[in-house]
Amino acid sequence: MPFSSLKQDDTFSKDNLLSDSSNLWAVMNTVLDGLVIIDSNGFIQAFNPSAVKIFDYQLHEVIGQNIKMLMPDPYCNNHDSYLTNYKSTKVAKVIGIGREVSGKRKNGEIFSMELGINEMWLDGNLMFVGTIRDISDRKKAEEEMAAFVTALKHSNQELDDFAYIASHDLKEPLRGLSNNAQFLKEDYKDLIDEDGVKRIDRIVYLCERMETLVNDLLYFSRIGNQALAIKEIDLNHVIEDIASMMDTTLIVENAKILIPQKLPTIACDVLRITEVFRNLITNAIKYNKKEYKIVEVGFNQVDNKTRKEFVFYVKDNGIGIPEKYHQDIFRIFKRLNDEEDHVKGTGVGLTFVKKIIERHGGHIWLESELNLGTTFYFTIGGTHSNE
Ligand code: ADP
Repeated sequence: MPFSSLKQDDTFSKDNLLSDSSNLWAVMNTVLDGLVIIDSNGFIQAFNPSAVKIFDYQLHEVIGQNIKMLMPDPYCNNHDSYLTNYKSTKVAKVIGIGREVSGKRKNGEIFSMELGINEMWLDGNLMFVGTIRDISDRKKAEEEMAAFVTALKHSNQELDDFAYIASHDLKEPLRGLSNNAQFLKEDYKDLIDEDGVKRIDRIVYLCERMETLVNDLLYFSRIGNQALAIKEIDLNHVIEDIASMMDTTLIVENAKILIPQKLPTIACDVLRITEVFRNLITNAIKYNKKEYKIVEVGFNQVDNKTRKEFVFYVKDNGIGIPEKYHQDIFRIFKRLNDEEDHVKGTGVGLTFVKKIIERHGGHIWLESELNLGTTFYFTIGGTHSNE
C-alpha cells in the first residue's frame, strides 16, 4: 500500500504534500518506524505503512482526523491547547525533544511508544512529523525482568531468613541433647560399661559437630543479610595480617605465601575480603601433601568491556580437584575428603567465599590439575587501581 496523504481540501493532497520529494516518499513507505504528519491544527495528513501496522487503522480511517484519536486520556484532551500554546510560545514539551509516551490502537489498547516530533514547513505551511516506535514488547520484557528480579531477591531473602530462624531454633534442642548425654555419662557411670561410654562420647561429639554446622548456617545467612562496610583497602596489609596470624601453621606445614607483585588497593569490606583470602590460603595448605607447600597470591589486570578489572588468584601446589567437582565444592557442607581424613573441615569455607565475592559483585572460578595444584581466580566488582 503506498504511503498516502488524503485531504478533504486539496491543500495537502498527496501530490501537493510531497511533490518535490518523491524519494522521501519512497523512504517513508519503507521505514520500520511509524511516521505521521499532521498540520498545525493537529489533523493527520500522512500516515505510513508502519504507522498503519502500529495503530491498526487503515489509511482512510485516519487521514483528515485529529491526531488525538491515537492518544489515550488524558493526553488527547490537552493536545489542542498544547498545539496552540506551542505555536504562540514555541515552548515545546515533545517537539524536538522526543520521549516515551502512550499511544492508543484502534481496538483501544494503550501501548508504550517512543515519540519524536519535529516541525517542518511545506509550501509555507507549518506541519509536524512524528516518528513512532512501538516499544510495548521491550517494555513488557523489562517489566517481566524487573518482576523476576524482585521475586528472586524476595526468595533469596526468605532463604536467608529461613536459614537464620531454623538454625537458631535448632541450637536449643541440640544443646539439650548434648547436656543430657553428659548427665547420663556422669549420673549413671556405674551402670554403663566402656562401650556405652564410648557411644555417649560419640553422641556428644556429633552434637558438637552439628552445633558447628548450625553456626555455619547462621553465619551463611548473616553474610547475605548484613550490609557491607566498603572502604579503600590495601590488600598487601590483608595478606600480611593473615600470614602473621598463621605463622605457626606456616612453620609446622612447611608452607610459604608468595606475593610476586605488590597487590592493589581496592574498595571492599575488609573483614569479608580477609575471610576470602584466609579461607583460600588455609585450603591451599590443608589440601596439600607436598613437602614444601607454596601458596602464591597475585592478580592480573584484564580489560573488561568498560574498564580495567583485577582478577585475583590464590595458587597452590596441592592435591588438585577433579574437574567434575569444580562446581560442587562451592555447595554448602560439600567436602571431597571424608570425616576419617586427617584434614578437618565442615565444607562451608568455599560457600562463604563465593557468597562474599558475589555480594561484592564479583565471581569465582578455578583451574586445577591433580597432584600439581589448584588456582582459584576471582574478581571483586567495582574494584579499581590506586596507580
Ligand atoms: P572444608 O575445607 O571445610 O572442607 P571448603 O568449602 O573450604 O570446606 O572446601 C570444600 C572442599 O573442596 C574441601 O573439602 C576440599 O575437598 C576441596 N578443596 C578446597 N580447596 C582445595 C584446594 N586448594 N585443593 C584441593 N581441594 C580443595
